[in-house]
Amino acid sequence: MNSKKPRIVVLGAGYAGMMTTKRLCQNLAPEEAEIVLVNKHNYHYQTTWLHEVAAGTINPNQVRIMISDVINPNRVRLIYDTVAKVNKEDQVVELENSELSYDYLVISLGFETNTFGIKGMEDHAFFINDIDTCREIYSHIEYQFAKYNTQENPDDDSLAILVGGGGFTGIEFVGELVEKVPELCKKYDVDRSKVRIINVEAAPSIMPGFDKDLVAYAKDSLQSRGVEFMENAKIQECTEDGFVVGDDHEKVKAGTVVWTGGVKGSSILTESGFELTKGKVTVDGDLRAPGEENIFILGDCAWVMNKEEGRPYPPTAQSAMQHADTCAANLRALLHNEPLESFVFDDKGTVASLGVTDGMGTVFSGTKLYGKSAATMKKVVDNRYLFLLGGPKLVLRKGKFRPF
Ligand code: FAD
Repeated sequence: MNSKKPRIVVLGAGYAGMMTTKRLCQNLAPEEAEIVLVNKHNYHYQTTWLHEVAAGTINPNQVRIMISDVINPNRVRLIYDTVAKVNKEDQVVELENSELSYDYLVISLGFETNTFGIKGMEDHAFFINDIDTCREIYSHIEYQFAKYNTQENPDDDSLAILVGGGGFTGIEFVGELVEKVPELCKKYDVDRSKVRIINVEAAPSIMPGFDKDLVAYAKDSLQSRGVEFMENAKIQECTEDGFVVGDDHEKVKAGTVVWTGGVKGSSILTESGFELTKGKVTVDGDLRAPGEENIFILGDCAWVMNKEEGRPYPPTAQSAMQHADTCAANLRALLHNEPLESFVFDDKGTVASLGVTDGMGTVFSGTKLYGKSAATMKKVVDNRYLFLLGGPKLVLRKGKFRPF
């Protein structure tokens, strides 16, 4: 490639990074810029489907897409390596195995789990971080079932699955577990009544900040299928065999402990000296890092302020993809010496799955959906993303069509 062309480096092939790269290929002629995409793996995965991998309700291969299947390697230089640090002074990205200079940089490295310093959580809980950690969670759950009947005095607590955090991820995960547990019981000859699925949330209610009717629906639906909720229940400590919860230090025992209670932006932001608010960079309206002419920060690494409401937009896949559109347009504007645009969020609604056939959420102008219609909408949203990324072929290969 011609080294005189400005080099745009995109870090992270998640929703924001993949869509930015796609849009750059559409917005720029090949001679205008060299585009480089750096990612830890040679595949992109659907972060929004990870809870299904963790519960074993989806084949992990359906969740990942080879990057070179949807991004043309003749047009974009693909580097599969781990980012260690951004050296802003020298305009260089330090990778585990090499270095890379940039003229323009897009940081879209996603989230890391935040344990808020809860004692023992880092050491004893599983995290829904990526495909590998989720495969590990499911293998561990299945191992607990496989082991149970081989023990002389089987311990029922070993079958319990304890989920810390009743936010979006925690609730979607227990929704998948209620589907999977009966299957595992059948497979390993375990009585369903012996298996507890427990969700622990510190706030007065699960899904804090969500519409109350929708939350009530989710709770009823999951409780009726055997989920136990502990609300207003602050986790004091995570131990090898469970949580210590609340002021009276109640011990809740389980063979599988998963923490879904918080995320922060990639630690590369800290390593690289960016100023952080609650683990992320509060970006300018045009999505650049404050004071940085040539660095954009997108997706779960960024807080993008909703100026009207004086608080950030929720960090979601939906907004990460919209960041990508603005970022790609602004990179083009910078190359063409044109004014940059400000990010405007187009809220298409939010739907949470509660297993394969159930869900709840709002769409477009706030219309509430429950049950099968919500579950169908969730699949439409998932398939729409595949369509945007790789057209109808990718929808057919990786889409969700499982009938109810
Ligand atoms: P990601 O999509 O997480 O991508 C980050 C990429 O960076 C990954 O490919 C990763 O491998 C790569 N990477 C990370 N570190 C490095 C490194 N050091 N070097 C190289 N590469 C690296 N949002 C919704 O809108 N709707 C939903 O229904 C929804 N459900 C969710 C369910 C779950 C279980 C979870 C965990 C999240 C959910 N979200 C949902 C939130 C949504 O997934 C995130 O907001 C979105 O993934 C953010 O996109 P991103 O591009 O910033 O990061």
